[in-house]
Amino acid sequence: MTGLVYKSTGSWYTVKTELGTTYECRIKGKFRLQDIKSTNPIAVGDYVDFELDTKSDEETGVISKIHDRKNYIVRKSVNLSKQTHIIASNIDQVFLLVTIDNPPTFTSFIDRFLVTAEAYAIKAILLFNKMDAYNEDTTLEVKYLAHVYREIGYECLEISAATGQNIEKVKALMVGKVSMFTGHSGVGKSTLVNAIEPTLDLKTKAISTQHMQGQHTTTFAEMFDLSFNAKIIDTPGIKGFGVVDMEKEEISDYFPEFFKLKQDCKFNNCLHIEEPKCAVKDALEKDEISASRYRSYVQIIEGDDQHYRTDIRNQ
Ligand code: GDP
Ligand code: ZN
Repeated sequence: MTGLVYKSTGSWYTVKTELGTTYECRIKGKFRLQDIKSTNPIAVGDYVDFELDTKSDEETGVISKIHDRKNYIVRKSVNLSKQTHIIASNIDQVFLLVTIDNPPTFTSFIDRFLVTAEAYAIKAILLFNKMDAYNEDTTLEVKYLAHVYREIGYECLEISAATGQNIEKVKALMVGKVSMFTGHSGVGKSTLVNAIEPTLDLKTKAISTQHMQGQHTTTFAEMFDLSFNAKIIDTPGIKGFGVVDMEKEEISDYFPEFFKLKQDCKFNNCLHIEEPKCAVKDALEKDEISASRYRSYVQIIEGDDQHYRTDIRNQ
């Protein structure tokens, strides 16, 4: 049988078949995972083949194979050097919630997120939340930001999880797909998920009390089916959106508007910093690429992890 992994606790995997039946599965003997060095061979989002365990009285399964992943996100393992932990796989899209105030989301943070999503080959969508709370100036800032990111090809929606503004549009984007939501603490992720599917919040709470985990809710990722043919992967306790190791030369590949220009740079290993006849810097001077995007790029190249407030309209 083939099924999709909804949850994993380390040794047991909850696998759902296309018919909607759920089986608790284990891994067969020594399980080899292609060539990925990770602490967990199977993750939420994996498609697996399994057989029913005939020796067991209960309907449990034994996983024999993982299907190829289209993508996966990882976190670095704390103890084991170089080993990673696969948080989730086969993610169709990730929504980044952005707020201008309470809390502020800086462009350098947005750009770093987008670079990570590009490197992971996951579609990214920007949701500008709390539109109901903004004055005219802040609303203009959102409009400007949304314009900058739409120009490069990212879908942007102005929403309010509190009033329901454009929530139907978010839902429409989710139909038939596996989605994740991310963003700074306080941007409204829980409020949004609750607006999208009011019963889901209760469901997660019921699960954690049932397992008597007290205030420590599970730190494992978990997939949920929503009522409108959509799936979400929840990653409680996991901050940020994973890590990707990148070579310096590779970083501009993940800025789509830079990537398009790259072939016109004089040097094919151009980092677009100090090299002469650089198509990216030429475009920057002509205002064809955004100064804040270029600034984020330089920050990433220089390994600067700080995020600074920049008023995108005054540059
Ligand atoms: P999370 O940490 O990302 O899950 O954020 P929460 O969903 O807990 O929201 C943080 C705070 O922002 C709460 O006080 C929410 O009521 C508030 N909030 C969330 N969405 C909106 C919104 O669209 N408009 C306004 N005005 N407040 C919101
Ligand atoms: Zn260049």
